[in-house]
Amino acid sequence: MDGNRFDDRPADLVLLGPPGAGKGTQARILQERFGIVQLSTGDLLREAVAQGTPAGLAAKDVMAAGGLVSDEIVIAILRDRLAAPDCAAGVIFDGFPRTAVQAEALDALLADAGRGIVAAVSLEVDDAAMVARITGRSTCAGCGEGYHDDFKRPAVAGVCDRCGGTAFKRRADDTAETVSARLAAYHAQTAPLIDHYAGQGLLRRVDAMAPIDEVTAGMAAVVETALA
Ligand code: ADP
Ligand code: AMP
Repeated sequence: MDGNRFDDRPADLVLLGPPGAGKGTQARILQERFGIVQLSTGDLLREAVAQGTPAGLAAKDVMAAGGLVSDEIVIAILRDRLAAPDCAAGVIFDGFPRTAVQAEALDALLADAGRGIVAAVSLEVDDAAMVARITGRSTCAGCGEGYHDDFKRPAVAGVCDRCGGTAFKRRADDTAETVSARLAAYHAQTAPLIDHYAGQGLLRRVDAMAPIDEVTAGMAAVVETALA
């Protein structure tokens, strides 16, 4: 990907919302539609765990328990990924920042590169619905396309719509037991960032209890307006 659809400036967007709100689902769609790279710190950390890197080893147990990995580790991983050439045209930050320290670090990193966040979208959901969203989640092992047992099934059962793969995986931390810890971490440490971005005039709220395509329409409108 060598440029976003808006071309004249980097399109950096932050997605806020609790686990299960639909950040990854929407980020993948926006990436395809607008040419803005999805950067998920959860994906980067899972990769580090799978590879057994020092960061992965430090993060593994915290992730399994539904806590937040240290700012130091996450910011270092994010900084490395952000330096890659494909991020130059803009990034959809999915699952980052999650703490005030991370938000300050992101503002500074982007400012150093002469860019900045154009909108922070808060996906607004009811906590009570997140257990079902998270425990029903799966992804295609081949291409990473996301599915849900009830809300987003492949057109042909057991076959990925996107790549035709037949192997699907579920995350080890997607259990009913971890959901309350993950939601608690969200409310204690991440929800306050809504005020951080509201204070900068960047906050946009989207009703994410609606069906996936309606949420996409709301988000696309935000992106179009922010970059018009
Ligand atoms: P997050 O990245 O915020 O943790 P995901 O995008 O992985 O959340 O979505 C969690 C689960 O909920 C996935 O299985 C996804 O298919 C499903 N999902 C996402 N958005 C919606 C929606 N608006 N309505 C119903 N299910 C949804
Ligand atoms: P996610 O894929 O966004 O649901 O993240 C999965 C897990 O990775 C979280 O429950 C945290 O343990 C960890 N994680 C992901 N992003 C961050 C972050 N920005 N700060 C701290 N921990 C994170």
